[in-house]
Amino acid sequence: LRGLMMGVPLLVTTALRHAALYHADTEIVSRTTEGPIHRYSYADAWARAQKLAHALAKLGLEPGDRVGTLAWNGYRHLECYYAIGGSGMVCHTINPRLFPEQIAYIVNHAQDRVLFTDLTFIPLLEGLAEHLTGVKAIVVMTDAAHMPTSSLPNLLCYEDLLADQPDHFDWPELDENTACSMCYTSGTTGHPKGVMYSHRSAILHALAACLPDVFDLSASDVVLPVVPMFHVNAWGIPYAAPMVGAKLVLPGAKLDGASLHELFVSEGVTNTAGVPTVWLALLNWLDANKKGLGILRRVAIGGSACPPIMIQRFKEHGVEVLHAWGMTETSPLGLANMPKAKHAGQSADDALALASKQGRPICGIEFRVLDSNGNDVPRDGKSFGRLLVRGSWVCSSYFGLDSSPAHETVPGWFETGDVVTMDADGYVQIVDRTKDVIKSGGEWISSIDLENIAVGHPAVQEAAAVAIPDEKWGERPLLVVVVKEGASLTKEELLAVFDGKIAKWSIPNDVRFVEALPHTATGKLLKSSIRDMVTTPPAA
Ligand code: ADP
Repeated sequence: LRGLMMGVPLLVTTALRHAALYHADTEIVSRTTEGPIHRYSYADAWARAQKLAHALAKLGLEPGDRVGTLAWNGYRHLECYYAIGGSGMVCHTINPRLFPEQIAYIVNHAQDRVLFTDLTFIPLLEGLAEHLTGVKAIVVMTDAAHMPTSSLPNLLCYEDLLADQPDHFDWPELDENTACSMCYTSGTTGHPKGVMYSHRSAILHALAACLPDVFDLSASDVVLPVVPMFHVNAWGIPYAAPMVGAKLVLPGAKLDGASLHELFVSEGVTNTAGVPTVWLALLNWLDANKKGLGILRRVAIGGSACPPIMIQRFKEHGVEVLHAWGMTETSPLGLANMPKAKHAGQSADDALALASKQGRPICGIEFRVLDSNGNDVPRDGKSFGRLLVRGSWVCSSYFGLDSSPAHETVPGWFETGDVVTMDADGYVQIVDRTKDVIKSGGEWISSIDLENIAVGHPAVQEAAAVAIPDEKWGERPLLVVVVKEGASLTKEELLAVFDGKIAKWSIPNDVRFVEALPHTATGKLLKSSIRDMVTTPPAA
């Protein structure tokens, strides 16, 4: 028996239309690549998204076409999200931090017909032009006064394209399973793979993102996504904020401590989200300049493990950390960490240990933890296994690839590549990426645990733990450490902080001090290069 409810499809345009109708004068504030701060309202964004939809049609683009964006978090990028997706096309957000060859690969693999770019990326595109043979036009997201002189063919001006278009567009009535956007994984192994989100998955994921135990967004909030709109749709915030009518602050290209601090304070930001690397820089800047974070109340941290010291440092600023876990393939939100009622009154140490886990499953996405025989491990917070997921916003296959991301022996479940524990309350702790775990004498050592302890030392800026081959033990942990500017640190001083914190046999054998550590395009430690760095003997 079927339910008797209307079959109104879940479409991304629903979010911005809602904001334009009921939060018409709520602001969207952007730091532009041209320089000044730009302000307008949800009503303005909706009108301009419709102008852009007309312009896309005029360019000859059709439903199903992929349209690439190389852009920071800004209002024109937001307009692209809605106009491209709403027209039944696919907004392919491209991570400009990928290697140029990877960018050329994904533009061609996705068959992007038109690219929208911020001024910043013109030189990058000039270098790639000869490889981008399928791209018929490049739209520079600026006005006529700022149009660059460039060797690029078919360069168009965003504001000129919009200028004469009507601000009402008859959006197509799409099936909710139509693709609306896509994002490639950063491809640390092999080519990047395209994950294609649907209108339905984007809306369901964004609704979940607003929940109190996730980003906790409402019409009284001001949200600043530091996480880029070019990576996994800025964790869904460009859809979630208009859904609830939160003011949106888009920080553009400047993600340094001073620039972020200025926006947090001047715009009254209450909620923010980003990867640990940016927060480290911000916290250090705040300390050095004796500044605070205004009325910021919640920072969502994910993408790589948030060290306990970071949770403590934010707490000293009166800011609650929401540790979260996700992947490009899971839209990305899967786990979010807030305490339960029963945790009230727990000791500060217990609260910190709990908050340092990656979080509990968000309803809508299911998890299993399997041992090497394919059996579910006990939910005791100790037994570990491989993490599998499935849900309404988890990818079922990669764009244009035959290989399925589903687990080889458990069809319908996606293998995350993470090794985890889960406790009776559902809190998951990542032990490691399967490929980064250090296997010493039959035991597993979590590189994340070692890094978290190392960065707890006040002289450490950043630390990576990697496996080095060992005749006796198979592998042993080595710490590769960047010392804070002006600080000094010896191997013995650093290794002393491990005493009593972990089993003796898992304490790193050695420490290598380096100037800087390599990161992936999404700000994570690039373990493969770090392993190469330390296994190659230093130049004489
Ligand atoms: P990429 O950045 O390479 O595109 P993803 O963003 O999809 O890849 O990365 C997903 C992976 O990031 C997860 O499988 C997990 O290993 C890691 N990750 C994400 N969030 C966390 C977290 N809070 N703690 C530890 N690891 C995390």
